[in-house]
Amino acid sequence: MDRLVLATAADSTVRLIAAVTSETVSEAVRRHGTSPTASAAMGRMLTGAALMGASLKDFDRLTAKIECTGPIGGIIAEANDKGHVRGYVKTPDVELPAKTNGKFDVSGIIGEGTFYIIRESGFDIGLHREPYVGSVPIVSGEIAEDFAFYLAKSEQIPSAVLLGVLLQNSEPFVTAAGGVMVQMMPGVNEHIVTMIEDTIAHVPHLTSVIKEGATPEELIRLALGDIKFEILEEREVQFRCNCSMERALSMIAALGSQEVQSMLDEDNGAVMTCGFCSEIYQLSGDDLREILAVES
Ligand code: ZN
Repeated sequence: MDRLVLATAADSTVRLIAAVTSETVSEAVRRHGTSPTASAAMGRMLTGAALMGASLKDFDRLTAKIECTGPIGGIIAEANDKGHVRGYVKTPDVELPAKTNGKFDVSGIIGEGTFYIIRESGFDIGLHREPYVGSVPIVSGEIAEDFAFYLAKSEQIPSAVLLGVLLQNSEPFVTAAGGVMVQMMPGVNEHIVTMIEDTIAHVPHLTSVIKEGATPEELIRLALGDIKFEILEEREVQFRCNCSMERALSMIAALGSQEVQSMLDEDNGAVMTCGFCSEIYQLSGDDLREILAVES
């Protein structure tokens, strides 16, 4: 199971969140059949959402969303407070040639647009408060920088964000994935900031150390260099959707009895595919008749 840790350093003026998300991203890629570049983009978004979801308090669900002009069309990644992550890209098969440095052209498939963070709370206790929505323009399209820009602009938390996905040509496609978020809290010493910036500028590729078996604690060590830190919390992270046959049935029922009747007449059933996880729900004629019986 993938793991995430929260840590603190320099008298709580620096907050760190790190995760290894190789299995989570693998599962997302397997479910959505994304192209390599779309997989890199989706994996970075899922990892970023997991890190951010763990660091911000007082919400049940955090959504990171990109709406963009590039050929991927958009990306959504959701994380909840239990470490469940799910998400998808609008155009899974989009692909562009690698950049001259050999990296995936993630910014090329994203193009210009807006980066959103949406926080929702109150579900667990039956409240539906207005979601909190923050947004910034996409500044790089490489995603890690977009999370960092959002944190600085919208949450006033100067941050460094590293996100990586390493792929290979055969199953399980994702060799390594993970990320680190370093957040500077009010009162942080300038000297500490400079030290961390310098360390991060020289940090090796996250995915190559994750591939060698690095833990989230070791990723934090890499980001901090000689600065001591304390682990506050750890949790599991996994790709997990909350869709179910029950939800599929209630979504079909919500279409109204006329629509359900025509599905029954034309196809003697219905098929629903969950956008978040690509799970397919086959509804039989009997399922539809049951919906109609309840409706009438
Ligand atoms: Zn689902």
